[in-house]
Amino acid sequence: MTQRVALVTGAMGGLGTAICQELAKAGHKVVAAYHPEFDKPEEWLKEMAEAGFKDVVTVAGDVASIDSCAAMVAEAEAKAGQVDILVNNAGITRDKMFGRMELAQWDAVISTNLTSLFNMTKQVSAKMAERGWGRIINISSVNGVKGQAGQTNYSAAKAGVIGFSKALAAELATKGVTVNVIAPGYVATKMVMAIKPEILQTIVDSVPMKRLAKPEEIGGACVYLASDIAGFMTGATMNINGGLYYQ
Ligand code: NAP
Repeated sequence: MTQRVALVTGAMGGLGTAICQELAKAGHKVVAAYHPEFDKPEEWLKEMAEAGFKDVVTVAGDVASIDSCAAMVAEAEAKAGQVDILVNNAGITRDKMFGRMELAQWDAVISTNLTSLFNMTKQVSAKMAERGWGRIINISSVNGVKGQAGQTNYSAAKAGVIGFSKALAAELATKGVTVNVIAPGYVATKMVMAIKPEILQTIVDSVPMKRLAKPEEIGGACVYLASDIAGFMTGATMNINGGLYYQ
């Protein structure tokens, strides 16, 4: 297997950690990008090393700021080399029923979950196309595919992720660069564990498989999409949701 450089945003979150681990297990050099305000990167690195992942490089940056993304990718390239695989995973929720949603909650979710794709992908896509190989993997959500009450901001951003990916996939189709989406259902990470227990139980009950996804089940899909064997798949959305919703 060819070793590639894989940059993962939101790397120190629940899903990001699993994505980093699965990509590292597959032999890739992982660059873990984290929010500058996250105060425990050393602790995360220590835990990764203890779990056997000693070769991970870290960079800090705000995916909602294009200047920060430019600086972060430059630092990643200096530390690890050109980025071959970009996983746009950073995301937030600011849930409110639409009648009570403030513009600030809308803006925060759109800029972190959607504009971040512009900010990050801008830094790497042309260089991937020049080299004739690249993988861009964008993390959407089942709630972007089906729409979710209380999440007009998040559903819009995550649906936007799918539209962005289809359009960029078409632009890069002849360049050896694929652009795909993973739309996870509910995954057992802190984002989901923060949901009130009674609501979480209702969610689990609604999933045909009657459980949450394990983070590594999403990380494994990233490994596939990042591989050479996935070279004919582009503009696609992988729905990994325990049978919750298909389109
Ligand atoms: P998480 O644990 O909260 O991780 C999200 C990560 O994104 C955190 O490390 C967070 O850093 C980072 N982040 C937030 N804003 C950022 C910014 N402006 N710049 C850089 N990094 C930023 O959530 P998760 O569950 O792993 O979610 C990962 C992705 O999967 C998200 O895109 C989410 O929407 C998507 N997703 C999750 C689920 C689920 O069930 N968990 C389902 C479908 C889709 P800080 O915490 O330090 O701010």
